Amino acid sequence: MHDKIESGSRREIPSVNSVLEALGEFDVPRPLIVDLIRSELTKERNRAAVDPVDKILERIRAGVTDLRRSRLQTVVNGTGILIHTNLGRAPLAQDAAEKLNRIASSYSNLELDLITGDRGSRAPYVTRALALLCHAEDAAIVNNCAAALVLIVSHFVRQKPEIVISRGEMVQIGGGFRIGDILESAGAKLREVGATNKTTLNDYARAIGPRTALVLRVHRSNFVMSGFVESPSSAALGDLARRKRIPFVHDLGSGATIATEQLGLEEHEPTPAEAIKDGASLICFSGDKLFGGPQAGIIAGKRKLIAALKREPFCRALRCDKLVLASLQATVDLHLSGTRPAEIPVLSLLQTGKDELRSRAAAMLVRLRGLPLQITIGHGTASIGGGSLAKSVISSLTLDISPEDCSVTEFAATLRNSSPPIIGYIARGFFKLDLRTIFPSQDDIVVDAIRLAATKQNRT
Ligand SMILES: *Cc1c(COP(=O)(O)O)cnc(C)c1O
Repeated sequence: MHDKIESGSRREIPSVNSVLEALGEFDVPRPLIVDLIRSELTKERNRAAVDPVDKILERIRAGVTDLRRSRLQTVVNGTGILIHTNLGRAPLAQDAAEKLNRIASSYSNLELDLITGDRGSRAPYVTRALALLCHAEDAAIVNNCAAALVLIVSHFVRQKPEIVISRGEMVQIGGGFRIGDILESAGAKLREVGATNKTTLNDYARAIGPRTALVLRVHRSNFVMSGFVESPSSAALGDLARRKRIPFVHDLGSGATIATEQLGLEEHEPTPAEAIKDGASLICFSGDKLFGGPQAGIIAGKRKLIAALKREPFCRALRCDKLVLASLQATVDLHLSGTRPAEIPVLSLLQTGKDELRSRAAAMLVRLRGLPLQITIGHGTASIGGGSLAKSVISSLTLDISPEDCSVTEFAATLRNSSPPIIGYIARGFFKLDLRTIFPSQDDIVVDAIRLAATKQNRT
């Protein structure tokens, strides 16, 4: 009855089919489109006055566009933040992506021992390789570093409830993720020691008693304290814990396996091997920060403790799938074979020389001549991000754009809307793209997108 779409018809609500036909083809499954149309039409029905059909169609089209943009997709990272949690943290090494792809689309020996033909344990190779890399007796892999902490804490607080932690290390990691909340949710009673800026070894020693399950050190990964600041070394803490016969657990956060000074950074991030050498019974770190692998929580340390963690029924709820294990295995192999930093993207981006960035920027500038925008090369300060090395800024180069026909905010939105989306930032009245986090192979895409964005008809 109402199948016809007539622009301007007043109280007519179009049918789902007629809207579908008017919309044309989209690369989104039909049920999702139909669902969107239905909910828009329901809203329309509940309105006091029905809008003209073309207006309804326009709204539905915008809805479909928004739906497509909410899909997980690749983006160009022009933020200069190497490990950007909103942008998926570390990109995988090419080899890791290939191995993941192969394991993903085939059967694998995930839990089969090819030597005996019997059921085997998950990931014996990668845990062994990780243990070697960390100079630890054994290792385990869970979903992420937060899960690693929860597993460790919930295991140890079953007998004795208290965790001794410095007030200077009660860190908030990301949006709404506080170490203290995590520990308490895992059943721990926090025994906070020292002050925000100063905790002595004696503070720890006095707090340790018969109710102490473990001493926890959390790496201050996303902020710096300076001035009147003191905390005992990890070696001193490790020594104290050993004398008191309790485990010392060190949450490293980013898991840089190379000395960070070697990467040209001013801060030193403790490596897993150093933390183990300093007496940590267990360490944990993220797989997708400076380690450069997939999202995972890596635990390494004493064989007996790792075995006990693996026996926890709860461990099963935190286990990684074959895709993670495949890409993690390839990443660990790269670390061990010494081909990093070249092959691990976060490390190679970090090490790109300024001269190389400059010549890329100059080449892009030449191709962006004659557009209605001002564009210059600026000095950027890239950073690690993702809760790593808060102090270390990495000098970088940016394309600084000032569009003539629209605001920088509108320009940023247009680039975010291009395909693939290009993400930059606004500073001092310019829209900026930091070349350090843009792969050289993406330069052409960026040039094309800027050209398109600069021409008026393409503006949203
Ligand atoms: C990032 C971070 C975590 C959380 O790691 P996820 O892998 O995101 O769960 C925990 N502790 C520290 C110190 C961190 O930097």
